[in-house]
Amino acid sequence: MVRVLVCDPVAKEAVEKMEKGGLTVDVKTELTPEELVATVGDYDAIIVRSATKVTKDVIEAGKKLKVIARGGVGLDNIDMDAANAAGKTVINTPAASSVSVAELAMAHMLAISRDIPQANATMAASKWEKKKFKGVELFKKTLGIIGIGRIGQEVAKRALAFEMTVIAYDPYVTQAMLGKLNVKIVSFDELLQKSDYITLHMPHNEETHYLLAEDEFAKMKKGVRLVNCSRGGVVKEAALLEALKSGKVASAGIDVFENEPVKGNEFTSLTNVSLSPHIGASTVDGQFRVGIEVAEKLIELLA
Ligand code: NAD
Repeated sequence: MVRVLVCDPVAKEAVEKMEKGGLTVDVKTELTPEELVATVGDYDAIIVRSATKVTKDVIEAGKKLKVIARGGVGLDNIDMDAANAAGKTVINTPAASSVSVAELAMAHMLAISRDIPQANATMAASKWEKKKFKGVELFKKTLGIIGIGRIGQEVAKRALAFEMTVIAYDPYVTQAMLGKLNVKIVSFDELLQKSDYITLHMPHNEETHYLLAEDEFAKMKKGVRLVNCSRGGVVKEAALLEALKSGKVASAGIDVFENEPVKGNEFTSLTNVSLSPHIGASTVDGQFRVGIEVAEKLIELLA
């Protein structure tokens, strides 16, 4: 019997698929770290999303464990050194939620152009402030995408449908790699200087930490609009706050923060922001795809 432990919620169709594929699946999504250490020893594979931490203790307790499956992008919640040392196979589903994140970036882009959160708040307060909200269009504006990988390219396609001019900065992507996608690769400074909107879609690492800080905001157009659905640390929040207060950045749509979870911070008291609690990948469709992809990979590896 090959046993799989599901530690974070996945689509029920994914569980059914694994069962049909010959795997025995237990769904235990409320385990404490201690309970996980006590339980993991019975399983050949575990499935996590972003919530469960697969620590060294978990990996060492997982004597039978062959595969650690992370549904989604990023492996930040898995101790990769411990997993490699113990010879565990680690898999993820990097592309399954790209469209979900790209659509959230577009949602924030539209929200901060038309003051949707602020207009909604006035309606909820039984006010009709028709004259208060004068937005701007995306049409004919220049969008600068920093990091034009899977998600960045999905954003580009959608922005092009809005008839935006799309430019991108990515040190690891050449013009040829983008094929027919109508996006011009430019230098970092050119992107900062030319963009009416900037959206971030690169990983957070030593190289990208605080990629946008005071000096970079100074180079941007006055009234630029910023969207961050990548990771908190790529933007220096203190610098962005100043830029939002001074009007250098007209508005910002932010899904990710330096310290999460956020329960009230300086951003939440601003009126020129659209905020969400790190929900980029959280769609029914994306989570369904993540689950099915994990199930298919596990069947292939284990059944
Ligand atoms: P990807 O690997 O396909 O693309 C990332 C791109 O960033 C690559 O093209 C890479 O060359 C580029 N890059 C690397 N270093 C760079 C730098 N210094 N400057 C500019 N570009 C750089 O990854 P993806 O699937 O498109 O995901 C992008 C990021 O989105 C992830 O790393 C993750 O942090 C974030 N993400 C967020 C959510 C959310 O819930 N908000 C969900 C999924 C992913």
